[in-house]
Amino acid sequence: MTSNPNDWSDQSWHIKSVRILDPFTGVDSEGDIYVENGHFIDYPTAKMTVVDARGLWAVPRLTDMHVHFREPGQEHKEDLLSGSRAAAAGGFTVVATMPNTDPVIDIPALIDWQIRRGQEIGLVEIWPLGAVTKGSRGQELAEMGMMQRAGAVGFSDDGHAVGQARLMRAALSYATTLGHPIIQHAEDRDLSQGSVMHEGQVSSRLGLPGVPGVAESSMVWRDVELSLLTGGPLHVAHVTAPGSLEALHYAGTRGAHVTAEAAPHHLFLTDQAVAEWKADPVTKVNPPLRPEAFRQALVDAVVSGLVSVIATDHAPHHRDEKNAPYLEAPYGISGLETSVGTVLTALLHSGRMTPLELMARMTLGPHRALMMDYPGIVPGARADLTLIDPYHRWTVDPKQFYSRGKNTPMMGVELTGRAVGTMLQGKWTMREGEVLG
Ligand SMILES: [Zn+2]
Repeated sequence: MTSNPNDWSDQSWHIKSVRILDPFTGVDSEGDIYVENGHFIDYPTAKMTVVDARGLWAVPRLTDMHVHFREPGQEHKEDLLSGSRAAAAGGFTVVATMPNTDPVIDIPALIDWQIRRGQEIGLVEIWPLGAVTKGSRGQELAEMGMMQRAGAVGFSDDGHAVGQARLMRAALSYATTLGHPIIQHAEDRDLSQGSVMHEGQVSSRLGLPGVPGVAESSMVWRDVELSLLTGGPLHVAHVTAPGSLEALHYAGTRGAHVTAEAAPHHLFLTDQAVAEWKADPVTKVNPPLRPEAFRQALVDAVVSGLVSVIATDHAPHHRDEKNAPYLEAPYGISGLETSVGTVLTALLHSGRMTPLELMARMTLGPHRALMMDYPGIVPGARADLTLIDPYHRWTVDPKQFYSRGKNTPMMGVELTGRAVGTMLQGKWTMREGEVLG
């Protein structure tokens, strides 16, 4: 942003000469955006502060539908405040939080508490996800209906799969009445037990136990069939395996209510990174980093829209926990503050996608997957907006993260593209990388 208003807490804004990329309305054109009292309006007023946004993109409702904020119970890894700051810094206005906290978010009171705490913090809108099963133990269904009425936007036992087919069938049946999807972390534990990376040449060379893609894809196939059987909405978290993509294609040809997401690290990195990092657990994620052929197939699926969502699986850990042998360290990396740069570098600057298509995967895609509505940049709509500089070059330095999780294999990588301003409900929550308020 080239202008320098004195007070970023002003209430009305004229964002000038910006490239408006609005996947909700299909608009891709240069123009001005007017914001007053938290909403878009279609005319300027005298009291508006002008922001000259030449060369930047304006994208409504940048959404990350897969984050772990660790509160309650593991605040040393992250909490709702540090997570909200990381989200604003990364350019996000909405995040959906996974329920595998301690205790697990499996009752309406905890859904309600998360929403209210998020509003108190006021940096990002928090959409809580509730557990599918009580305590995410995979034994009996949680009170999904009550959690939905309290504001849950979907249900997941993420971290674990809902392994029992009978239970998954019941959950999908139930979800037909809830208006939100069951989000499956697809992993057959029988196959994946004890594995820490992808099973292939690199794992053999490193002598680390690996897991084949079929541990994921066999469950995706099963869940697609169960979604067809019940009519229940299914969203597949962090897909990585070509077989999973085949299952999604099959689901599409049958008209199943199935969506899926890809994570930026799976689009950018391969299992070679595990060797390059000399088995530093900073590369340990679940599902694991896959070989180049898998990565290319995943990129193709995001380009074609077969995978309609990009979500980070932001899974921060404390440094001491990640500072362990590869076999013992926990899975997960910090992703919110590198997402936009990673995705633009991998998919835009490689010439694979247009800006509007790419931004759809981070806005409209997650709204559709969660069955949530947003009108886009139209008069009267809530002003949730991100300014992105698509040519900003920067090198990832986790020390600069607002997230408490500094663990990322993107450390030291040069990226092109970054969010430079985040506005939630007409108020700036971040500008030039600095979180406000
Ligand atoms: Zn997961």
